[in-house]
Amino acid sequence: MKINKCVLYISILSLLLTSCFKGIHVDCVIHNAQVHTMDAENTVAQAIAFHKGKIVEIGPERQILNKYTADEEIDAQGKDVYPGFNDSHGHLLLYAQQKLSLDLHDCLSFDEMLVRIERFASRNPNKTIVGKGWDHSLWSQKELPTNERINDLFPNRAVVLYRVDEHTALLNQKALDLAKINLNTQIDGGEIQIIENKLSGIISDNALNLIETILPQYTQEELSKAILEIQDELLQYGITGVHEAGINFKDIALFKHLIQTGKFHINLYAMLMATPENIEFARKNGPFQYKNLKIQSFKVMADGAIGSYGALLKSPYSDNLETNGTLLTSFNEMKRIALLSEQFGYQMNTHAIGDQANFLTLQIIKEINETNKDHRWRIEHAQVIDSSDLSKYGEYGVFPSIQPTHAMSDYRWVKDRLGENRMLFAYSYKSLLKQSGMIAIGTDFPVEDIDPFTTIHTAVQRTPIEGGTAFKTAEGISLEECIKGMTIWSAWASFQENEIGSLEAGKDATLVIFESPVKSSTSYSSNFANTTFIKGKKVYSVE
Ligand SMILES: [Zn+2]
Repeated sequence: MKINKCVLYISILSLLLTSCFKGIHVDCVIHNAQVHTMDAENTVAQAIAFHKGKIVEIGPERQILNKYTADEEIDAQGKDVYPGFNDSHGHLLLYAQQKLSLDLHDCLSFDEMLVRIERFASRNPNKTIVGKGWDHSLWSQKELPTNERINDLFPNRAVVLYRVDEHTALLNQKALDLAKINLNTQIDGGEIQIIENKLSGIISDNALNLIETILPQYTQEELSKAILEIQDELLQYGITGVHEAGINFKDIALFKHLIQTGKFHINLYAMLMATPENIEFARKNGPFQYKNLKIQSFKVMADGAIGSYGALLKSPYSDNLETNGTLLTSFNEMKRIALLSEQFGYQMNTHAIGDQANFLTLQIIKEINETNKDHRWRIEHAQVIDSSDLSKYGEYGVFPSIQPTHAMSDYRWVKDRLGENRMLFAYSYKSLLKQSGMIAIGTDFPVEDIDPFTTIHTAVQRTPIEGGTAFKTAEGISLEECIKGMTIWSAWASFQENEIGSLEAGKDATLVIFESPVKSSTSYSSNFANTTFIKGKKVYSVE
């Protein structure tokens, strides 16, 4: 008996050992997790195996653990696992430039801004002073500022201060002189403000192109360093992809350089500004892919922003009857770019905030939809839409690309600008989703905070993260819809649904284990990634 028992034990042991050795070898298994796949059935599983950057299998705990042996086995201790989040509308380059310039965010008065400028000026004695992020709606005096006091402080040094929306800047006289802007300067699709026959220093939209030559030129090293810092920030939030909303020709080289260093892992879907050089690039390359950089779209600016009266409305602003806003690109030019996009197999992603800008853009997309139903053309922001135009989103297959935090930053003052009637169809994310079936969701960083949990909170709860009155709660979307907007729908919005956006066998192992449960409740709670993988590579870990 004893011998028999012993033989039995040995044979069980050897069976176990051989089954271990027979286990299929993979790079990594994450188990004891809540794996939210975001697939068509919204499957939630316990374990996931991946190898050489691709997902091999997702399934129940025992099934995965029995079948695979892994170089790295991670016990997620019940934590949530999601596909890596995408920011469907952000500005890495602008954010990098912001990091290299004077930060004026959260200045609560013009005086505070002056203090920050003086401090920055003494530390950076040579270059033109560039500040970013002021927002006069936070000041007790809510009018746009003028440049007199800055002229007194800096008579011989150029100062350029961008408003938070980047659609307006305040320049001192020295900067105006260097940019050769005077009372006679004419500009299409922009404004050079004149008050009592004097330049106030405020310029907006296309007028900003006039100051490009006086801005300090940052080196590739400076920009790369800043972008890698931003990448760290993104990865710690579980953001593994960004739709970069508007780059120029020289920026393509910068991103290729960054990728070649082996340090830049973010999936970057870049929209090209429709400049002649970029159009030639697209004509030559068509849809372009260089490792984790993908280019298949043009960004077109139909109008400006509501805050600075630049968004193009069908009728005048309710608190400024003298203006309807500004059309930044003529209808014919938008149409020309649309036809080129169609020819190159590109998307046209149009910044359209006001109802008239949306109307005009929808007109153009209508024609494209007649020949190509799967064009996936996007309207970026889609903030104010006339009731008669809303259904066109569904009819013409337009992809709304929205930023829920904008609604919460704007609602303190936006009712004054738009009036009650237009508010009925403003920031209507639920209605847009009903029309289109999918929405792409982003933050517009650095205009808004990069934190995707702020996006979740504002999209679902429709209150600012610091609390306060809810805003158009009926237009809130569910947690699941919001996450889809940052994962699978965002992937669709960038022609990448076969590679990313959901956790399914064969797709990229681009995923995040979050520190805390991913949820939305009435009060905002922060959350961060515990571990972030891009194509199977661990790119961030709290350890
Ligand atoms: Zn933007």
